[in-house]
Amino acid sequence: MITGKNYIGAEKSATGNKTYKTFNPKLNSETEWTFTEATSEEIDTAVAEAAGAFKIYSAFSDTKKANFLRAIAQEIEALGDTLIQTYMKESGLPEGRAKGERGRTMGQLNAFANLLEEGSWVDATIDTAQPNRAPLPKVDLRKMLMPIGPIVVFGSSNFPFAFSTAGGDTASALASGCPVLVKSHPMHAATGEMVASAVLKAVEKTGMPNGVFSNLNSSGIEVGQQLVMHPMVKGVGFTGSIKGGTALYRLANQRDEPIPVFAEMGSINPVVVLPSALEEKRDEWAKSYAGSITLGAGQFCTNPGLILGIKSSTLDSFIKTLGESIVEIDPTCMLHPNIFKGFETGKNELSSQGGVNIVAEYSEDAAPNYAKQRVLTVDGANFLKNTKLHQEVFGPFSVVVSCENADELAEIIEKLEGQLTGTILGSTEEIATYSYVVSALQSRVGRIIFNGVPTGVEVCPSMHHGGPFPATTDSRFTSVGTSAIKRWVRPVSFQNWPQAALPEALKDDNPLGINRLVDSKFTYDKIE
Ligand code: NAP
Repeated sequence: MITGKNYIGAEKSATGNKTYKTFNPKLNSETEWTFTEATSEEIDTAVAEAAGAFKIYSAFSDTKKANFLRAIAQEIEALGDTLIQTYMKESGLPEGRAKGERGRTMGQLNAFANLLEEGSWVDATIDTAQPNRAPLPKVDLRKMLMPIGPIVVFGSSNFPFAFSTAGGDTASALASGCPVLVKSHPMHAATGEMVASAVLKAVEKTGMPNGVFSNLNSSGIEVGQQLVMHPMVKGVGFTGSIKGGTALYRLANQRDEPIPVFAEMGSINPVVVLPSALEEKRDEWAKSYAGSITLGAGQFCTNPGLILGIKSSTLDSFIKTLGESIVEIDPTCMLHPNIFKGFETGKNELSSQGGVNIVAEYSEDAAPNYAKQRVLTVDGANFLKNTKLHQEVFGPFSVVVSCENADELAEIIEKLEGQLTGTILGSTEEIATYSYVVSALQSRVGRIIFNGVPTGVEVCPSMHHGGPFPATTDSRFTSVGTSAIKRWVRPVSFQNWPQAALPEALKDDNPLGINRLVDSKFTYDKIE
């Protein structure tokens, strides 16, 4: 049942007087639920409880935390069709997507549980003592990763499950041993409340400390700001706009004790179409990109918003087929009227820039909040001198740039802002011929794709979903895949520490049976 209240640990609370409602974009009307924004006092209580829970939770074994994560996945599934219907109502996204994203969310929770059960993620590193070393004896040093403290997670608008309440940020933080305070996304607060109720059932069933998880409502920036500024909060996970992410990053750096903000923000995901791709598979690529640009109404951080090619008749014919294919696709509903408005404003702003032509746009009537896709073209010189054209337009939209030659193509890539992904369409031989273009692209992105589309992010240990600023605030870390746990930990070295008092991961007899770097060699062996 949706109560509209904040979940402060196990306690449901609504002492404030600021309320708001969520919106059904398909019906173009408000939903039946009303939510009460968290007050300053409620935020303080939730953070204090999280700080208290940290002392207990961070000391739990990985097996115990893994049971908790698995229980969350089970409780989410147990919410059944009501959860799916709530998600669809608040996001306008179809049932297949809702079920797929729920599966991904449960898969992420279970993947972190597997990681914990295996145990080697703590990067245990041991250098044994050499008392007889000359001229000075060497001390015994043992290092491992340890959780940093309560984490604030900002639910994203475009993934109500997978990047929200119990999404990747929450799963990775809980796996690391950190309590989580979710700042619920106001566009899908009911979906958020249902998932929060599942997490809290799992807290109770697996004996986790109260305060290990809280879910706070808000419809403005104040709740998030207070959470980020709270001295007991030690890290932040965010997915959303460049404006929001950088504002929070700056705020966190103004604290007396600055804390890390891992913000995943905008990206236009450049795609470089090399000559052989145009000669051999022009129509195939044009059609597959029409699909990728419009997938999920273009509301993906990996949406291909920029396509770069070298001027030729084959590039013209690729653009023509892309335009013809994209207008054949029926528009779909966007997440919210505000996202729809942002899309309309962004696409019109970019379309009105100098040297820009509209190659294709969906021109039939569409229901309110349904995104009409558009593709623009511009030449390389105009793109280079106008950085407005580099901006992300969140929705089914892309700009195709016709470059004068390969040098101009490389120059454009070098001047691009940091990106989550970059794609090369071409042949294996062209990777060598255009090595300077490829290396320029590699230096701007976190994931480089060969002959594919950037949409569709595999969740697995080798995925890197992060890129140079402004794609993310820290390109060294990923928000997708099990390496995401590394954002919430810090290394601690134990020097000459007694065996009995060492964490299990660092004891001589390796009771956890994990892989460790002992005297510079990876081994599962005990230290004799
Ligand atoms: P957003 O505006 O960045 O907001 C995300 C969350 O951060 C919201 O909960 C918002 O709170 C909070 N927030 C924003 N600015 C803040 C600030 N200065 N201080 C504290 N909290 C702040 O993103 P959105 O609402 O999801 O969507 C808006 C636009 O962001 C989209 O149209 C799109 O352009 C972009 N976006 C991009 C991606 C991507 O993956 N590239 C994903 C999602 C959105 P309140 O809502 O409560 O104010």
